[in-house]
Amino acid sequence: MSKTLIAERVAEIKEKLRELAPDRRVSLMAVTKYRTREEALAAVAAGVDILGENRIQEAVQKWGDEKPSVALHMIGHVQTNKVKYGINLFDSFDSVDSDRLAEMLNHRASGLVRVMIEVNVGRETSKSGLMPEETLPFLASFERWPKLQVTGLMTVLPARQENSVEESRRIRRHMQEMVDLWRMCRSEGFPWAPMTELSMGMTGDWEWAVEAGSTIIRLGTFLFGPRL
Ligand SMILES: *Cc1c(COP(=O)(O)O)cnc(C)c1O
Repeated sequence: MSKTLIAERVAEIKEKLRELAPDRRVSLMAVTKYRTREEALAAVAAGVDILGENRIQEAVQKWGDEKPSVALHMIGHVQTNKVKYGINLFDSFDSVDSDRLAEMLNHRASGLVRVMIEVNVGRETSKSGLMPEETLPFLASFERWPKLQVTGLMTVLPARQENSVEESRRIRRHMQEMVDLWRMCRSEGFPWAPMTELSMGMTGDWEWAVEAGSTIIRLGTFLFGPRL
């Protein structure tokens, strides 16, 4: 999509965010997988807060020589043997969902590394992330990984199967479940887990997610058009 269109889309979202959440700040992440560096930089110039990539290799190719001026987050599944390529590139690993990955991040880190825990709130076999009930025990176990700071929870909600009231209720229930889980994790007050962020909401459901209490929305299609 053209720079102008991307800028228009970003402005549109920012205005909508001010309407939906006038009293708090919601960060806008542009998801730039399969997008060019130029498209991503157009979104940065238009004022997005964060860029999200979902494959280490693609991110290294795109950003390895020169990082963007905003934070770069890893939002896709990370193989432990790829951590070494991404550890100095990403400002946050948002999709941590296993001991193995946390162990490797802690092992490779030179300083503090920000991470988020990914939760599979819809319990879908096709998705990564922890089951909701596994989340708090996992969070508690981060005491073992002193270089990791857990800034919050991240989720990919189930896609809406149809445009029915029942289906809307189901998605919103999952959103509320995430908010409750996030609050519960935060109230533990673990020193390694400030838990200030809830990354929830994509092109199809971001307005509901903001209404529910999300602090980071992740948009690809809305900002850049369909992925080819
Ligand atoms: C691709 C992707 C997005 C963006 O999805 P859109 O529906 O295109 O906005 C958000 N989060 C994750 C984890 C993704 O992989």
